[in-house]
Amino acid sequence: MTYLAVPISAPNPDQAADQITAAVAAGAEMLELRADYLESLSVDMVENLVARVKNEPRHPTPIIVTCRDKRQGGAISYPVQLRVDVLIGALKAGAEFVDFEYENFLNTRNQERIRRALSLSSKGRLILSAHNFQGKFENISNLHRRILTVCPSAIPKLVHTANHIDDCFEALDLLQRTSGERIVFCMGQAGLVSRILAKKLGSFVTFASIDEQTATAPGQLTIRQLKDLYRYDSIDPETQLFGVIADPVGHSLSPAIHNACFAKMNMNRLYLPLLVQGGQDKFDFFMRSALLRKWLQFRGFSVTIPHKENALRFVRQSGGFIEPLAEKIGAANTLIITTDGRLKAYNTDYAGALDAITAGMGIAGPDLSGLSVAVIGAGGVARAIVAGLTDARAKIKIYNRTVKKAQRLAEDFACEFAGLDELPRLDSKLVVNCTSIGMHPNIDELPLPDGCLTKDMTVFDTVYNPAETLLLKQAKQVGCRTISGLDMFINQALAQFKLFTGAALNRDLAQHAISACLTGP
Ligand code: NAP
Repeated sequence: MTYLAVPISAPNPDQAADQITAAVAAGAEMLELRADYLESLSVDMVENLVARVKNEPRHPTPIIVTCRDKRQGGAISYPVQLRVDVLIGALKAGAEFVDFEYENFLNTRNQERIRRALSLSSKGRLILSAHNFQGKFENISNLHRRILTVCPSAIPKLVHTANHIDDCFEALDLLQRTSGERIVFCMGQAGLVSRILAKKLGSFVTFASIDEQTATAPGQLTIRQLKDLYRYDSIDPETQLFGVIADPVGHSLSPAIHNACFAKMNMNRLYLPLLVQGGQDKFDFFMRSALLRKWLQFRGFSVTIPHKENALRFVRQSGGFIEPLAEKIGAANTLIITTDGRLKAYNTDYAGALDAITAGMGIAGPDLSGLSVAVIGAGGVARAIVAGLTDARAKIKIYNRTVKKAQRLAEDFACEFAGLDELPRLDSKLVVNCTSIGMHPNIDELPLPDGCLTKDMTVFDTVYNPAETLLLKQAKQVGCRTISGLDMFINQALAQFKLFTGAALNRDLAQHAISACLTGP
Protein backbone atom coordinates (compact mmCIF):
# COMPACT_ATOMS: atom_id res chain seq x y z
CA MET A 1 0.00 0.00 0.00
CA THR A 2 1.27 3.46 -0.86
CA TYR A 3 -0.31 6.24 1.20
CA LEU A 4 -0.99 9.52 -0.52
CA ALA A 5 0.10 12.02 2.12
CA VAL A 6 -0.71 15.70 2.08
CA PRO A 7 1.58 18.11 3.97
CA ILE A 8 -0.06 20.58 6.34
CA SER A 9 2.17 23.63 6.18
CA ALA A 10 0.34 26.44 8.00
CA PRO A 11 1.73 29.28 10.14
CA ASN A 12 -0.91 28.86 12.88
CA PRO A 13 -3.25 26.18 14.29
CA ASP A 14 -6.44 27.69 12.77
CA GLN A 15 -5.01 27.64 9.26
CA ALA A 16 -3.59 24.17 9.90
CA ALA A 17 -7.09 22.98 10.86
CA ASP A 18 -8.48 24.45 7.61
CA GLN A 19 -5.76 22.71 5.60
CA ILE A 20 -6.51 19.40 7.35
CA THR A 21 -10.18 19.69 6.38
CA ALA A 22 -9.30 20.56 2.78
CA ALA A 23 -6.73 17.74 2.52
CA VAL A 24 -9.13 15.09 3.79
CA ALA A 25 -11.91 16.37 1.51
CA ALA A 26 -9.50 16.17 -1.47
CA GLY A 27 -8.77 12.50 -0.72
CA ALA A 28 -5.62 12.55 1.46
CA GLU A 29 -4.90 9.06 2.79
CA MET A 30 -2.40 10.40 5.31
CA LEU A 31 -1.51 13.84 6.68
CA GLU A 32 1.97 15.16 7.30
CA LEU A 33 1.92 17.90 9.91
CA ARG A 34 4.94 20.09 9.20
CA ALA A 35 5.33 21.61 12.68
CA ASP A 36 8.34 23.60 11.45
CA TYR A 37 5.90 25.86 9.53
CA LEU A 38 4.02 26.81 12.75
CA GLU A 39 5.03 30.21 14.13
CA SER A 40 5.66 30.47 17.91
CA LEU A 41 5.71 26.69 18.01
CA SER A 42 4.83 24.89 21.25
CA VAL A 43 4.33 21.23 22.15
CA ASP A 44 0.72 21.98 23.19
CA MET A 45 -0.04 23.43 19.78
CA VAL A 46 1.06 20.21 18.07
CA GLU A 47 -0.62 17.92 20.61
CA ASN A 48 -3.91 19.80 20.11
CA LEU A 49 -3.68 19.53 16.32
CA VAL A 50 -2.94 15.80 16.48
CA ALA A 51 -5.79 15.28 18.97
CA ARG A 52 -8.10 17.22 16.66
CA VAL A 53 -7.31 14.86 13.77
CA LYS A 54 -7.60 11.77 15.97
CA ASN A 55 -10.89 12.85 17.58
CA GLU A 56 -12.60 13.78 14.35
CA PRO A 57 -14.81 10.77 13.54
CA ARG A 58 -15.04 11.73 9.87
CA HIS A 59 -11.24 11.93 9.47
CA PRO A 60 -9.65 8.76 10.80
CA THR A 61 -6.60 9.76 8.75
CA PRO A 62 -3.17 8.55 9.89
CA ILE A 63 -0.79 11.39 10.62
CA ILE A 64 2.97 11.91 10.35
CA VAL A 65 4.36 14.68 12.53
CA THR A 66 7.68 16.21 11.68
CA CYS A 67 9.50 19.33 12.72
CA ARG A 68 12.15 19.46 10.07
CA ASP A 69 15.66 20.72 10.74
CA LYS A 70 16.26 23.90 8.72
CA ARG A 71 19.37 22.22 7.24
CA GLN A 72 17.11 19.50 5.80
CA GLY A 73 14.49 21.84 4.33
CA GLY A 74 12.72 23.04 7.51
CA ALA A 75 10.76 26.29 7.25
CA ILE A 76 11.52 27.94 10.62
CA SER A 77 14.67 27.19 12.58
CA TYR A 78 13.77 25.67 15.97
CA PRO A 79 16.26 24.18 18.48
CA VAL A 80 16.65 20.43 18.32
CA GLN A 81 15.48 20.08 21.95
CA LEU A 82 12.08 21.64 21.07
CA ARG A 83 11.84 19.66 17.84
CA VAL A 84 12.29 16.39 19.76
CA ASP A 85 9.78 17.57 22.42
CA VAL A 86 7.25 18.16 19.64
CA LEU A 87 7.68 14.61 18.29
CA ILE A 88 7.34 13.14 21.80
CA GLY A 89 4.17 15.20 22.34
CA ALA A 90 2.80 14.06 18.98
CA LEU A 91 3.33 10.40 19.94
CA LYS A 92 1.56 10.97 23.26
CA ALA A 93 -1.36 12.61 21.43
CA GLY A 94 -1.75 9.54 19.19
CA ALA A 95 0.22 10.35 16.01
CA GLU A 96 0.90 7.13 14.08
CA PHE A 97 4.25 8.36 12.72
CA VAL A 98 6.95 10.82 13.67
CA ASP A 99 9.64 11.72 11.18
CA PHE A 100 13.11 12.67 12.45
CA GLU A 101 16.32 13.31 10.53
CA TYR A 102 18.61 10.24 10.48
CA GLU A 103 21.61 12.57 10.87
CA ASN A 104 20.20 14.00 14.14
CA PHE A 105 19.06 10.56 15.35
CA LEU A 106 22.74 9.56 15.48
CA ASN A 107 23.08 11.94 18.44
CA THR A 108 22.78 9.69 21.52
CA ARG A 109 20.63 12.09 23.55
CA ASN A 110 18.08 12.62 20.74
CA GLN A 111 18.03 8.90 20.03
CA GLU A 112 17.42 7.93 23.67
CA ARG A 113 14.55 10.39 24.08
CA ILE A 114 12.82 9.29 20.85
CA ARG A 115 13.28 5.58 21.56
CA ARG A 116 11.81 6.01 25.06
CA ALA A 117 8.76 7.88 23.69
CA LEU A 118 8.24 5.19 21.03
CA SER A 119 8.39 2.43 23.65
CA LEU A 120 5.61 4.17 25.59
CA SER A 121 3.42 4.67 22.52
CA SER A 122 1.06 1.83 21.56
CA LYS A 123 1.17 2.42 17.82
CA GLY A 124 3.71 5.17 17.09
CA ARG A 125 6.32 4.44 14.42
CA LEU A 126 9.51 6.25 13.50
CA ILE A 127 10.39 7.51 10.03
CA LEU A 128 14.12 8.25 9.73
CA SER A 129 14.66 10.66 6.89
CA ALA A 130 17.51 11.99 4.79
CA HIS A 131 17.05 14.83 2.30
CA ASN A 132 19.55 16.15 -0.23
CA PHE A 133 18.40 19.39 -1.83
CA GLN A 134 21.53 19.73 -3.99
CA GLY A 135 21.54 16.47 -5.89
CA LYS A 136 21.89 12.70 -5.58
CA PHE A 137 23.10 10.93 -2.44
CA GLU A 138 26.62 9.58 -2.73
CA ASN A 139 25.31 6.04 -2.30
CA ILE A 140 21.57 5.74 -1.72
CA SER A 141 21.66 1.96 -1.11
CA ASN A 142 24.31 2.34 1.60
CA LEU A 143 22.34 5.10 3.26
CA HIS A 144 19.21 2.92 3.23
CA ARG A 145 21.22 0.10 4.83
CA ARG A 146 22.80 2.39 7.44
CA ILE A 147 19.40 3.73 8.53
CA LEU A 148 18.04 0.21 9.00
CA THR A 149 21.17 -0.86 10.87
CA VAL A 150 20.76 1.96 13.40
CA CYS A 151 17.02 1.34 13.80
CA PRO A 152 15.64 -1.80 12.08
CA SER A 153 12.04 -0.92 12.98
CA ALA A 154 12.23 2.55 11.40
CA ILE A 155 10.81 3.43 8.00
CA PRO A 156 13.69 4.90 5.96
CA LYS A 157 12.81 8.01 3.96
CA LEU A 158 15.34 8.98 1.27
CA VAL A 159 14.59 12.02 -0.85
CA HIS A 160 17.04 13.76 -3.15
CA THR A 161 16.82 16.47 -5.77
CA ALA A 162 16.91 15.24 -9.35
CA ASN A 163 18.81 17.77 -11.44
CA HIS A 164 18.01 15.66 -14.52
CA ILE A 165 15.42 12.96 -15.04
CA ASP A 166 18.28 10.42 -15.17
CA ASP A 167 18.90 11.16 -11.46
CA CYS A 168 15.58 9.42 -10.69
CA PHE A 169 16.80 5.98 -11.78
CA GLU A 170 18.83 5.27 -8.61
CA ALA A 171 15.80 6.08 -6.44
CA LEU A 172 13.57 3.86 -8.59
CA ASP A 173 16.20 1.09 -8.48
CA LEU A 174 16.22 1.22 -4.68
CA LEU A 175 12.45 0.82 -4.58
CA GLN A 176 12.67 -2.08 -7.02
CA ARG A 177 15.48 -3.87 -5.15
CA THR A 178 14.06 -3.49 -1.63
CA SER A 179 10.83 -4.55 -0.01
CA GLY A 180 9.05 -3.54 3.16
CA GLU A 181 8.24 -0.04 4.24
CA ARG A 182 10.43 2.68 2.73
CA ILE A 183 9.76 6.11 1.31
CA VAL A 184 11.81 7.01 -1.75
CA PHE A 185 11.32 9.65 -4.44
CA CYS A 186 13.03 12.70 -5.97
CA MET A 187 12.38 16.42 -5.68
CA GLY A 188 12.50 19.06 -8.44
CA GLN A 189 10.77 19.26 -11.81
CA ALA A 190 13.04 16.51 -13.13
CA GLY A 191 11.98 14.30 -10.21
CA LEU A 192 8.24 14.70 -10.72
CA VAL A 193 7.76 11.29 -12.36
CA SER A 194 9.33 9.54 -9.36
CA ARG A 195 6.51 10.88 -7.13
CA ILE A 196 3.97 9.19 -9.43
CA LEU A 197 5.98 6.00 -9.94
CA ALA A 198 6.43 5.71 -6.14
CA LYS A 199 3.00 4.05 -6.13
CA LYS A 200 3.80 1.56 -8.91
CA LEU A 201 7.00 0.56 -7.08
CA GLY A 202 5.45 0.39 -3.60
CA SER A 203 6.96 3.34 -1.73
CA PHE A 204 5.21 3.52 1.66
CA VAL A 205 4.19 7.14 1.07
CA THR A 206 4.16 9.68 -1.74
CA PHE A 207 3.30 13.32 -1.15
CA ALA A 208 1.01 15.77 -2.91
CA SER A 209 -0.11 19.24 -1.89
CA ILE A 210 -3.64 20.64 -1.54
CA ASP A 211 -2.73 23.41 -4.01
CA GLU A 212 0.37 25.10 -5.40
CA GLN A 213 0.55 27.60 -2.47
CA THR A 214 0.78 24.88 0.20
CA ALA A 215 3.41 22.75 -1.58
CA THR A 216 6.35 22.03 0.72
CA ALA A 217 8.92 20.79 -1.79
CA PRO A 218 9.94 21.57 -5.36
CA GLY A 219 8.20 19.38 -7.96
CA GLN A 220 5.38 18.40 -5.60
CA LEU A 221 2.17 17.79 -7.56
CA THR A 222 -1.23 18.79 -6.26
CA ILE A 223 -3.53 16.02 -5.10
CA ARG A 224 -5.92 16.86 -7.97
CA GLN A 225 -3.15 16.58 -10.59
CA LEU A 226 -2.02 13.27 -9.15
CA LYS A 227 -5.51 11.80 -8.98
CA ASP A 228 -7.24 13.36 -12.02
CA LEU A 229 -4.41 13.76 -14.51
CA TYR A 230 -2.06 10.93 -13.49
CA ARG A 231 -4.64 8.27 -12.58
CA TYR A 232 -3.14 7.81 -9.09
CA ASP A 233 -5.97 5.64 -7.79
CA SER A 234 -5.59 3.07 -10.56
CA ILE A 235 -1.78 2.74 -10.55
CA ASP A 236 -0.53 -0.69 -9.42
CA PRO A 237 2.64 -2.76 -9.96
CA GLU A 238 1.32 -4.01 -13.33
CA THR A 239 0.59 -0.56 -14.77
CA GLN A 240 2.25 -0.17 -18.18
CA LEU A 241 4.01 3.11 -18.82
CA PHE A 242 3.95 5.59 -21.70
CA GLY A 243 5.17 9.15 -21.82
CA VAL A 244 6.12 12.20 -23.80
CA ILE A 245 9.86 12.89 -24.04
CA ALA A 246 10.36 16.64 -24.40
CA ASP A 247 12.12 19.75 -23.14
CA PRO A 248 10.17 21.74 -22.09
CA VAL A 249 7.38 19.32 -21.27
CA GLY A 250 5.06 21.31 -18.98
CA HIS A 251 3.07 22.72 -21.93
CA SER A 252 2.29 19.29 -23.38
CA LEU A 253 -1.34 18.24 -23.50
CA SER A 254 -0.39 14.65 -24.34
CA PRO A 255 -0.65 13.41 -20.70
CA ALA A 256 -4.19 14.84 -20.46
CA ILE A 257 -5.33 13.29 -23.72
CA HIS A 258 -3.78 9.84 -23.34
CA ASN A 259 -4.55 9.41 -19.63
CA ALA A 260 -8.19 10.45 -20.15
CA CYS A 261 -8.49 7.85 -22.91
CA PHE A 262 -6.71 5.11 -20.92
CA ALA A 263 -9.14 5.80 -18.05
CA LYS A 264 -12.21 5.81 -20.27
CA MET A 265 -11.15 2.52 -21.84
CA ASN A 266 -10.29 0.97 -18.49
CA MET A 267 -6.69 0.27 -19.53
CA ASN A 268 -4.06 -0.28 -16.85
CA ARG A 269 -1.73 2.26 -18.47
CA LEU A 270 -0.26 5.55 -17.39
CA TYR A 271 1.16 8.38 -19.50
CA LEU A 272 3.91 10.53 -17.96
CA PRO A 273 5.59 13.87 -18.79
CA LEU A 274 9.28 12.99 -19.27
CA LEU A 275 11.52 16.05 -19.10
CA VAL A 276 14.68 14.95 -20.92
CA GLN A 277 17.07 17.91 -21.01
CA GLY A 278 20.14 17.93 -23.25
CA GLY A 279 21.04 16.63 -26.69
CA GLN A 280 21.48 13.25 -28.36
CA ASP A 281 23.72 11.83 -25.59
CA LYS A 282 21.16 12.63 -22.88
CA PHE A 283 18.32 11.28 -25.00
CA ASP A 284 20.24 8.05 -25.61
CA PHE A 285 21.13 7.67 -21.93
CA PHE A 286 17.53 8.14 -20.85
CA MET A 287 16.26 5.64 -23.42
CA ARG A 288 18.89 3.05 -22.54
CA SER A 289 18.15 3.48 -18.81
CA ALA A 290 14.39 3.15 -19.33
CA LEU A 291 14.70 0.11 -21.63
CA LEU A 292 17.22 -1.64 -19.39
CA ARG A 293 14.73 -1.54 -16.51
CA LYS A 294 12.14 -3.87 -17.97
CA TRP A 295 10.26 -3.82 -14.65
CA LEU A 296 9.27 -0.22 -15.32
CA GLN A 297 7.21 -1.62 -18.23
CA PHE A 298 7.64 1.29 -20.62
CA ARG A 299 5.67 0.42 -23.75
CA GLY A 300 5.75 3.61 -25.78
CA PHE A 301 6.84 7.21 -26.06
CA SER A 302 5.66 10.31 -27.81
CA VAL A 303 8.67 12.40 -28.77
CA THR A 304 8.64 16.12 -29.31
CA ILE A 305 10.77 19.26 -29.09
CA PRO A 306 13.79 18.93 -29.38
CA HIS A 307 14.23 15.14 -29.68
CA LYS A 308 12.42 13.91 -32.81
CA GLU A 309 15.59 13.57 -34.86
CA ASN A 310 17.47 12.17 -31.84
CA ALA A 311 14.74 9.53 -31.51
CA LEU A 312 15.16 8.38 -35.10
CA ARG A 313 18.96 8.16 -34.77
CA PHE A 314 18.62 6.22 -31.52
CA VAL A 315 16.31 3.63 -33.06
CA ARG A 316 18.57 3.34 -36.12
CA GLN A 317 21.65 2.77 -33.93
CA SER A 318 19.76 0.25 -31.79
CA GLY A 319 18.83 -1.76 -34.88
CA GLY A 320 15.11 -1.20 -34.33
CA PHE A 321 12.37 -0.98 -36.93
CA ILE A 322 11.80 2.41 -38.62
CA GLU A 323 8.70 2.86 -40.75
CA PRO A 324 9.71 4.14 -44.22
CA LEU A 325 7.80 7.42 -43.75
CA ALA A 326 9.72 8.28 -40.53
CA GLU A 327 12.99 7.36 -42.33
CA LYS A 328 12.11 9.65 -45.21
CA ILE A 329 11.14 12.52 -42.89
CA GLY A 330 14.26 12.01 -40.80
CA ALA A 331 12.32 12.36 -37.53
CA ALA A 332 10.19 10.13 -35.31
CA ASN A 333 7.47 11.31 -32.95
CA THR A 334 6.30 7.89 -31.77
CA LEU A 335 8.35 5.02 -30.33
CA ILE A 336 6.87 1.65 -29.47
CA ILE A 337 8.56 -0.92 -27.27
CA THR A 338 7.36 -4.43 -27.95
CA THR A 339 6.99 -6.94 -25.11
CA ASP A 340 10.29 -8.56 -26.18
CA GLY A 341 12.03 -5.17 -25.89
CA ARG A 342 12.28 -4.27 -29.60
CA LEU A 343 12.00 -0.63 -30.62
CA LYS A 344 9.83 0.70 -33.45
CA ALA A 345 9.77 4.28 -34.74
CA TYR A 346 6.90 6.04 -36.48
CA ASN A 347 5.89 9.55 -37.48
CA THR A 348 2.27 10.56 -37.03
CA ASP A 349 2.92 14.31 -37.57
CA TYR A 350 2.99 13.98 -41.36
CA ALA A 351 -0.59 12.78 -41.79
CA GLY A 352 -1.82 14.78 -38.79
CA ALA A 353 -0.56 18.04 -40.31
CA LEU A 354 -1.73 17.33 -43.90
CA ASP A 355 -5.22 16.44 -42.67
CA ALA A 356 -5.36 19.63 -40.55
CA ILE A 357 -4.26 21.75 -43.55
CA THR A 358 -6.70 20.26 -46.08
CA ALA A 359 -9.62 20.32 -43.59
CA GLY A 360 -8.74 23.88 -42.50
CA MET A 361 -8.52 25.14 -46.12
CA GLY A 362 -11.57 23.15 -47.20
CA ILE A 363 -9.64 21.42 -50.01
CA ALA A 364 -8.60 17.90 -50.96
CA GLY A 365 -4.98 16.64 -50.92
CA PRO A 366 -4.44 17.03 -54.70
CA ASP A 367 -5.40 20.74 -54.44
CA LEU A 368 -2.15 21.35 -52.56
CA SER A 369 -0.24 20.80 -55.80
CA GLY A 370 1.49 24.04 -56.83
CA LEU A 371 0.43 25.91 -53.66
CA SER A 372 3.16 28.28 -52.45
CA VAL A 373 3.99 27.56 -48.81
CA ALA A 374 6.29 29.29 -46.32
CA VAL A 375 7.49 26.96 -43.57
CA ILE A 376 9.06 28.82 -40.62
CA GLY A 377 11.36 26.50 -38.67
CA ALA A 378 13.48 23.53 -39.66
CA GLY A 379 13.19 21.16 -36.69
CA GLY A 380 11.35 17.87 -36.27
CA VAL A 381 7.84 19.12 -36.95
CA ALA A 382 9.00 21.15 -39.95
CA ARG A 383 10.59 18.01 -41.44
CA ALA A 384 7.28 16.12 -41.23
CA ILE A 385 5.29 19.00 -42.73
CA VAL A 386 7.82 19.66 -45.51
CA ALA A 387 7.82 15.93 -46.36
CA GLY A 388 4.00 15.89 -46.50
CA LEU A 389 3.71 19.05 -48.56
CA THR A 390 6.49 17.92 -50.93
CA ASP A 391 4.63 14.67 -51.54
CA ALA A 392 1.56 16.81 -52.28
CA ARG A 393 3.71 18.80 -54.77
CA ALA A 394 3.42 22.16 -53.00
CA LYS A 395 6.10 24.85 -53.67
CA ILE A 396 7.90 25.28 -50.37
CA LYS A 397 10.31 27.87 -49.00
CA ILE A 398 11.83 27.16 -45.58
CA TYR A 399 12.81 30.05 -43.27
CA ASN A 400 14.88 29.32 -40.20
CA ARG A 401 16.97 31.09 -37.57
CA THR A 402 19.85 28.67 -38.18
CA VAL A 403 20.12 28.99 -41.95
CA LYS A 404 22.31 25.89 -42.28
CA LYS A 405 19.49 23.77 -40.88
CA ALA A 406 17.02 25.33 -43.33
CA GLN A 407 19.49 24.57 -46.14
CA ARG A 408 19.88 20.94 -45.08
CA LEU A 409 16.10 20.44 -44.93
CA ALA A 410 15.63 22.23 -48.25
CA GLU A 411 18.26 20.00 -49.89
CA ASP A 412 16.62 16.85 -48.53
CA PHE A 413 13.27 17.77 -50.07
CA ALA A 414 14.32 19.96 -53.04
CA CYS A 415 12.79 23.22 -51.74
CA GLU A 416 13.99 26.80 -51.35
CA PHE A 417 15.35 28.19 -48.11
CA ALA A 418 16.18 31.50 -46.45
CA GLY A 419 17.02 33.14 -43.13
CA LEU A 420 14.36 34.80 -40.97
CA ASP A 421 15.51 38.21 -42.29
CA GLU A 422 13.73 37.41 -45.57
CA LEU A 423 10.33 36.97 -43.89
CA PRO A 424 9.22 40.57 -44.65
CA ARG A 425 9.24 39.65 -48.38
CA LEU A 426 6.91 36.68 -47.79
CA ASP A 427 4.33 36.13 -50.57
CA SER A 428 3.15 32.52 -49.99
CA LYS A 429 -0.50 31.47 -49.87
CA LEU A 430 0.03 29.19 -46.88
CA VAL A 431 2.26 30.16 -43.92
CA VAL A 432 3.13 27.46 -41.40
CA ASN A 433 4.84 28.21 -38.09
CA CYS A 434 6.94 25.20 -37.12
CA THR A 435 8.97 26.97 -34.45
CA SER A 436 8.14 26.96 -30.75
CA ILE A 437 7.73 30.74 -30.78
CA GLY A 438 4.42 31.78 -29.15
CA MET A 439 4.17 28.58 -27.13
CA HIS A 440 3.12 28.73 -23.47
CA PRO A 441 4.50 30.45 -21.38
CA ASN A 442 5.98 32.84 -23.98
CA ILE A 443 2.59 33.61 -25.47
CA ASP A 444 3.41 37.22 -26.41
CA GLU A 445 6.04 36.24 -28.99
CA LEU A 446 5.59 36.17 -32.76
CA PRO A 447 7.56 34.06 -35.28
CA LEU A 448 7.41 36.74 -37.99
CA PRO A 449 7.57 40.54 -38.01
CA ASP A 450 4.45 42.76 -38.19
CA GLY A 451 3.10 43.52 -41.66
CA CYS A 452 4.13 40.25 -43.37
CA LEU A 453 0.62 38.80 -43.63
CA THR A 454 -2.02 39.61 -46.24
CA LYS A 455 -5.65 38.58 -46.19
CA ASP A 456 -5.36 36.08 -49.04
CA MET A 457 -3.07 33.91 -46.90
CA THR A 458 -3.90 30.89 -44.74
CA VAL A 459 -1.90 30.77 -41.50
CA PHE A 460 -1.31 27.45 -39.72
CA ASP A 461 0.41 27.59 -36.34
CA THR A 462 1.62 24.18 -35.20
CA VAL A 463 1.91 25.54 -31.64
CA TYR A 464 -1.18 24.25 -29.84
CA ASN A 465 -0.81 25.65 -26.35
CA PRO A 466 -2.42 28.19 -26.32
CA ALA A 467 -5.02 27.02 -28.84
CA GLU A 468 -5.15 30.50 -30.32
CA THR A 469 -1.63 31.90 -30.45
CA LEU A 470 -0.77 35.56 -30.92
CA LEU A 471 0.14 34.70 -34.52
CA LEU A 472 -3.35 33.31 -35.17
CA LYS A 473 -4.98 36.31 -33.46
CA GLN A 474 -3.03 38.73 -35.68
CA ALA A 475 -3.74 36.64 -38.79
CA LYS A 476 -7.48 36.78 -38.02
CA GLN A 477 -7.29 40.56 -37.63
CA VAL A 478 -5.69 40.84 -41.07
CA GLY A 479 -8.49 38.65 -42.50
CA CYS A 480 -6.47 35.45 -43.09
CA ARG A 481 -7.95 31.99 -42.78
CA THR A 482 -6.39 30.29 -39.72
CA ILE A 483 -5.68 26.70 -38.69
CA SER A 484 -4.91 25.86 -35.07
CA GLY A 485 -2.14 23.48 -34.03
CA LEU A 486 -4.77 21.71 -31.92
CA ASP A 487 -6.31 20.15 -35.06
CA MET A 488 -2.96 18.63 -36.00
CA PHE A 489 -2.29 17.67 -32.40
CA ILE A 490 -5.50 15.70 -32.08
CA ASN A 491 -4.95 14.02 -35.48
CA GLN A 492 -1.44 12.87 -34.53
CA ALA A 493 -2.56 11.77 -31.05
CA LEU A 494 -5.32 9.63 -32.59
CA ALA A 495 -2.75 7.84 -34.72
CA GLN A 496 -0.33 7.55 -31.80
CA PHE A 497 -2.96 6.04 -29.51
CA LYS A 498 -3.69 3.42 -32.14
CA LEU A 499 0.03 2.53 -32.27
CA PHE A 500 0.25 2.44 -28.46
CA THR A 501 -2.82 0.30 -27.84
CA GLY A 502 -4.22 -1.03 -31.11
CA ALA A 503 -7.47 0.71 -30.13
CA ALA A 504 -9.12 3.75 -31.66
CA LEU A 505 -9.11 6.95 -29.64
CA ASN A 506 -12.43 8.69 -29.20
CA ARG A 507 -12.01 12.10 -30.87
CA ASP A 508 -14.68 13.81 -28.75
CA LEU A 509 -13.11 12.50 -25.57
CA ALA A 510 -9.67 13.73 -26.69
CA GLN A 511 -11.13 17.14 -27.57
CA HIS A 512 -12.90 17.28 -24.21
CA ALA A 513 -9.71 16.38 -22.26
CA ILE A 514 -7.81 19.12 -24.08
CA SER A 515 -10.50 21.77 -23.60
CA ALA A 516 -10.58 20.99 -19.88
CA CYS A 517 -6.81 21.59 -19.69
CA LEU A 518 -6.78 24.74 -21.78
CA THR A 519 -9.61 26.37 -19.85
CA GLY A 520 -8.81 24.81 -16.46
CA PRO A 521 -7.25 26.67 -13.51
P1 NAP B 1 12.61 21.35 -32.76
O1 NAP B 1 12.99 20.18 -33.54
O2 NAP B 1 13.40 21.67 -31.53
O3 NAP B 1 12.68 22.66 -33.70
C1 NAP B 1 12.43 23.93 -33.17
C2 NAP B 1 12.44 24.95 -34.29
O4 NAP B 1 12.08 26.22 -33.71
C3 NAP B 1 13.82 25.14 -34.92
O5 NAP B 1 13.64 25.45 -36.28
C4 NAP B 1 14.36 26.36 -34.16
O6 NAP B 1 15.30 27.11 -34.89
C5 NAP B 1 13.12 27.18 -33.99
N1 NAP B 1 13.20 28.11 -32.87
C6 NAP B 1 13.12 27.79 -31.55
N2 NAP B 1 13.24 28.91 -30.82
C7 NAP B 1 13.40 29.94 -31.69
C8 NAP B 1 13.57 31.33 -31.53
N3 NAP B 1 13.59 31.90 -30.32
N4 NAP B 1 13.70 32.10 -32.64
C9 NAP B 1 13.67 31.54 -33.87
N5 NAP B 1 13.51 30.20 -34.09
C10 NAP B 1 13.38 29.43 -33.00
O7 NAP B 1 11.08 21.29 -32.28
P2 NAP B 1 9.83 20.59 -33.03
O8 NAP B 1 9.66 19.23 -32.47
O9 NAP B 1 9.98 20.80 -34.49
O10 NAP B 1 8.61 21.45 -32.45
C11 NAP B 1 8.42 22.80 -32.86
C12 NAP B 1 7.04 23.28 -32.43
O11 NAP B 1 6.04 22.48 -33.03
C13 NAP B 1 6.78 23.17 -30.92
O12 NAP B 1 6.41 24.42 -30.43
C14 NAP B 1 5.59 22.26 -30.76
O13 NAP B 1 4.63 22.80 -29.84
C15 NAP B 1 4.98 22.25 -32.13
N6 NAP B 1 4.44 20.92 -32.39
C16 NAP B 1 3.10 20.81 -32.64
C17 NAP B 1 2.56 19.59 -32.86
C18 NAP B 1 1.11 19.49 -33.12
O14 NAP B 1 0.61 18.36 -33.17
N7 NAP B 1 0.40 20.57 -33.30
C19 NAP B 1 3.34 18.44 -32.87
C20 NAP B 1 4.68 18.59 -32.61
C21 NAP B 1 5.24 19.82 -32.36
P3 NAP B 1 16.88 26.69 -34.88
O15 NAP B 1 17.02 25.58 -35.87
O16 NAP B 1 17.57 27.92 -35.26
O17 NAP B 1 17.19 26.24 -33.48
